Amino acid sequence: MNVENIRKDFPILKRKVNGKQLVYLDSAATSQKPKQVLNAIQEYYEKYNSNIHRSISTLAEEATEAYEKAHEKVAKFINAEPEEIIFTRNATEAINLAAYGLFRSALIKPGDEIILTEMEHHANLVPWQQIAKEVGVKVSFIKINKDGLLDLNDFKSKLNKKVKLVAFVHVSNVLGTINPVEEIIKLAKKNGSYVLVDSAQGIPHIKIDVKKLNADFVAFSGHKMLAPTGIGVLYGKKELLEKMVPFQYGGGMISEVSYKDSKWNELPHKFEAGTPNIEGGIALGYAIDYLENIGMNKLKEHCDELVDYALCQLRKMKNVTIYGPNSDKRAGLIAFNVKGVHAHDLSTLLDKDGIAIRAGHHCVMPLHNLLGITSTARISFYIYNTKKEVDKFIESLKKTMKFFGVEY
Ligand code: PMP
Repeated sequence: MNVENIRKDFPILKRKVNGKQLVYLDSAATSQKPKQVLNAIQEYYEKYNSNIHRSISTLAEEATEAYEKAHEKVAKFINAEPEEIIFTRNATEAINLAAYGLFRSALIKPGDEIILTEMEHHANLVPWQQIAKEVGVKVSFIKINKDGLLDLNDFKSKLNKKVKLVAFVHVSNVLGTINPVEEIIKLAKKNGSYVLVDSAQGIPHIKIDVKKLNADFVAFSGHKMLAPTGIGVLYGKKELLEKMVPFQYGGGMISEVSYKDSKWNELPHKFEAGTPNIEGGIALGYAIDYLENIGMNKLKEHCDELVDYALCQLRKMKNVTIYGPNSDKRAGLIAFNVKGVHAHDLSTLLDKDGIAIRAGHHCVMPLHNLLGITSTARISFYIYNTKKEVDKFIESLKKTMKFFGVEY
């Protein structure tokens, strides 16, 4: 992988922040976008901007074809069928779609149970928690151990015939933990439960095959994998999507409407009401082309190397607490704290050196409470990051610690 060449595709990386070369270590929040994706958006608006599935015109046909092609590219990327790919705004909306669909179609009923994990992002916790409260469903959480890994014995002990759904995060956005997806799905399926995988941090780093995995739903966001914001994906098994009532009603999702009732369009249109994010969908297709050109295995190897390199240096430092497992069970990110310094202060001072990191609870408040902390600082990597950038980060971190009088 030629990172120097890759970097040339990302115009933003040339930017200076506070007079310093930008070091972007926040790709887990959102990745930067290559010019191939930016050009695709511009080309759409300059050459074939039109609403889709409606007018019969050359422009409308070109736009419709490009939008449908994007569904095909996503499908091929995860080994699904194009009609199983529903475009949403983001992973959050994808999870809400699955949650409302399962409950409103009575595939999960009062008295049933749901299992989540203690490391869920709010996106894969709050929707289930709130609907479960409304309907009368018990929610329990698979425990994590001191290394930041899921306790599978605890999971097994919680499985019973009332458990209708297991929804879990593929890669934790705080601990970085890569969860044992195959094993969890096998156990859940043996129990007769539906499975949803929140792969918002997984798919940008790890190639998955939904057919092999046998998950019922996989949710992810385009903006963490080189595409723009406002486009996400819910993969759902066709037979299950067909059983589910629509999430939103309106134009585009119907096949027939009278004053009394309506019939639903075929998949995936049934779940894509209204004018969608056409340019976002098309751009996601281009983002996937870009990732495939690099190769997901090479991408993962590169990010693993950076995680390893950064972990090694952070571990040598005094007064730095690192959260999560060893690098072999971790993908793309490291959350940490410096004794006596708030993560927001760290992030503010690093920004003065042009280094963008993330600080806060990262939408995972319950896990932070469990760890007895209110916030963490997080660095995260993608294809365009380099070891030199890690060095700059460590140097700036040391400078910051010195400023606060904390030994390193
Ligand atoms: N799940 C995980 C693990 C995430 O990291 C995120 C984004 N931080 C989400 C879900 C939600 O993604 P989005 O905000 O794009 O809907």
